[in-house]
Amino acid sequence: MSAPLRRALLAWYERSRRDLPWRRSRDPWAVWVSEVMLQQTTVKTATPYFERFIERFPTLVALAAAEEEAVVAAWSGLGYYHRARNLHRGARHVAERHEGRFPDTLEAALAVPGVGLYTASAILSIAFGRPLPVVDGNVRRVLARLFALRGPEYRKDGPYYNRAEELLDRERPGDWNQAAMELGATVCLPRKPACPACPVRKHCRALAQGLVDELPESRARRAPVEVTVAAALVEREGRVLLVRRPEGKLLGRMWEVPQTSLESRGLPDLASELAERHGLRVVPGPLAVRARHSITFRRITLEGYRARLVGRPPADSDRVRWTTPEEVAALPVSSATKKLLAGLRAPQIPLAF
Ligand code: SF4
Repeated sequence: MSAPLRRALLAWYERSRRDLPWRRSRDPWAVWVSEVMLQQTTVKTATPYFERFIERFPTLVALAAAEEEAVVAAWSGLGYYHRARNLHRGARHVAERHEGRFPDTLEAALAVPGVGLYTASAILSIAFGRPLPVVDGNVRRVLARLFALRGPEYRKDGPYYNRAEELLDRERPGDWNQAAMELGATVCLPRKPACPACPVRKHCRALAQGLVDELPESRARRAPVEVTVAAALVEREGRVLLVRRPEGKLLGRMWEVPQTSLESRGLPDLASELAERHGLRVVPGPLAVRARHSITFRRITLEGYRARLVGRPPADSDRVRWTTPEEVAALPVSSATKKLLAGLRAPQIPLAF
């Protein structure tokens, strides 16, 4: 059934594909940036970030020449900042070893820092027409349903790669991979797939066997954890105090409002935690902002308290800085910190729940 299925899906893709900015050329740099952004971000959210990022860094050579702080600042708000740092390291590698041109073999592509099999296959198939399958969450779901893949072996990735390899259109691998991803993103949705409008419904075993709602079988997920983060909003002469997260941690080297996570403790710990961690002596005052935020499996309640600094204010350094709201826009700061800083400008606690 492979040939008719391929024809049907490719014809549908040509008719129905979304006009997305990274699809307007086969430039490997645009494909690379888009694939990295889309790994943990939806198309809708990623699109304006992609356009701004490509305008700021039109080539990988431009990114390679930039400072890390500028790269992370341009990524600011998208989250999962290791992606920006890896892209930066990868661009430097390609600029130094391949004269700024993304390598067109799988072996050389996999040697680029931060480029794994998924990203390498996407770039090489779309930009260079190499016959390499791409399997993301969307393709996995489409394959599981098309072939009614069930059982413990289909909770791992390997069998999906094998299926995708068998099915790959070797004449048009880039279009084929994008067509399969597009079907999963727009028709074969996780819940309520649009089977009556599906271009490959005639070939779908899950549909024929009444298994659509049961496939793909889920992999064990980490249960969400509720956390409260209390932060000290310290202002001085129109500037707000930020500290830098340590390297190697989640959001490493990002700037943030001094804060601590309160799982089972109370407000007084904010003061002692900040003294211990940053050498800052603060007296927390009234609650200024409360907001919800999610990061990986953590469901966070952010609480920003106006706070007073005791003793001599620390001077700007690699670990501490006083910043204006305008400067924050150009700094690598997390979305959680932006939400907290909004509290300083708000007249009262926003009802963010
Ligand atoms: Fe997915 Fe339904 Fe199409 Fe099967 S028929 S591939 S379940 S959208």
